[in-house]
Amino acid sequence: MPGRSLPGPDQRGLFIGGRWREAEEGATFTVLDPADGSVLASVADGSVNDATEALDAAAAAQEGWGASAPRDRAEILRRAFDLIRGRTDELAELMSLEMGKTIAEARGEVAYGNEFLRWFSEEAVRIHGRWMHAPDGASRLLTVRKPIGPCLFITPWNFPLAMGTRKIGPAIAAGCTMVVKPAELTPLTMLVLADILDEAGLPPGVLNVVPTSRAAAMSEALMADPRLRKVSFTGSTLVGRQLVRQSADQLQRLSMELGGNAPFLVFEDADVDAAVDGAMIAKMRNMGEACTAANRFLVHTDIAQEFAGKLADRMSRLVVGRGQDPDVDVGPLIDERAVNSIHQLVTDAVRDGARLVVGGSAPTGPGYFYRPTVLLGIRHDSEINRQEIFGPVAPISVFATEEEAVRRANATEYGLAAYVFTRDLSRTIRLAELLEYGMVAVNTGLISNPAAPFGGMKASGFGREGGFEGIEEYLETTYVALPATSRHQG
Ligand code: NAD
Repeated sequence: MPGRSLPGPDQRGLFIGGRWREAEEGATFTVLDPADGSVLASVADGSVNDATEALDAAAAAQEGWGASAPRDRAEILRRAFDLIRGRTDELAELMSLEMGKTIAEARGEVAYGNEFLRWFSEEAVRIHGRWMHAPDGASRLLTVRKPIGPCLFITPWNFPLAMGTRKIGPAIAAGCTMVVKPAELTPLTMLVLADILDEAGLPPGVLNVVPTSRAAAMSEALMADPRLRKVSFTGSTLVGRQLVRQSADQLQRLSMELGGNAPFLVFEDADVDAAVDGAMIAKMRNMGEACTAANRFLVHTDIAQEFAGKLADRMSRLVVGRGQDPDVDVGPLIDERAVNSIHQLVTDAVRDGARLVVGGSAPTGPGYFYRPTVLLGIRHDSEINRQEIFGPVAPISVFATEEEAVRRANATEYGLAAYVFTRDLSRTIRLAELLEYGMVAVNTGLISNPAAPFGGMKASGFGREGGFEGIEEYLETTYVALPATSRHQG
């Protein structure tokens, strides 16, 4: 029954200092179902004062939480992992409702997002310092790792659970407190996550969640506050740049997980069927609404027709519809603006000479749907090659040499993920070194893994989430200088 997984009335408020409450003056905003535009729920609309109270709670909890036993933090994360695993169906349906993705994809996100809690429960007890003899032997160098302090997390709508747990997991493990501002389009999943972490035993004030429709005012006020020590943001490069500027006054530490423009390179020696399988995942995961989504298909001229034909065949067989319908492969996009901007990119590419192989239009009726689309013969300077498409559109262009493929793959301000299909090991090694990307997938369309350092370079931002690196973003280092006291001094 749709809607049974919506959070109860209590969990549609602000979560501050371990308590649920209304926003200032009872303000609320509505969350819509992208499959038909209807209202799913209304949630508390946090004000700047509400957010400041959340930071008060985080700042008050920091000292005690930072001094807590790593094992206790680990066990809270592990309990939350078990609770989420037990509630997979409910969370998957909720995410599907507020964001549009299919239930199968939503279940995949619950498993993926939850894995960050398990991974960082295991990392919480492995925070190391260093003991070292200075090179001249006259002193000893000790390093102490400390939680960085209260954090602000701002997350996007495309992965409502995983983009939260990637930050919350390592912050809890490191002993940091936090204020989370979920995307206003999809705040419901984060509110349920707060409830689960509370049930798992997280002390009051460690995690505070403040949904708001006034993100800019909130981030400005919190980032002007010297108690806030870290901002981790996942979202567009445009907003990321603004937050980097905003961090200058208080010099907060930053992690910026921003936009992408992933090239998908298919060489003449590739297994074309495997490349098409990989393309379906890299392009169509989350309806193409992923920062890692393959955005530019660059295919060797000898196999371009075969690749395009096979990809178009697979794309044309996908069923578009409401994400909660078990027969559906492709859910709605997030809103009308997304459909319009994607259609504009497709229209402009065709005007620039590309051939529409399949798709290229939005079905009529309610909801924000777009048909899976393949375009062949994209002009290199076409807008669709320069912008993040964020939808189910695969633009293919051809290349003749490896040198050309690499040059064009790197010809973007972004540097998040790149995909390579080849059976040549030497070429694989060369490309891993030459591609200016934080992540390179070889002969696979799936790149994200909680045990790996996820993140980009150039305009895709900086910092890493997941892997051994993920917890570093939440730790400060104090170096302690000690004299050498042994008789072997010097
Ligand atoms: P967005 O930048 O519009 O919004 C992201 C978040 O920032 C939302 O919570 C929004 O409310 C908030 N926000 C907007 N203006 C703000 C401001 N001035 N101050 C503080 N917060 C503000 O992005 P989106 O449309 O929600 O998400 C899609 C983008 O996210 C794409 O560019 C995608 O590539 C990127 N993304 C990146 C990663 C990654 O790990 N690199 C992962 C997922 C999504």
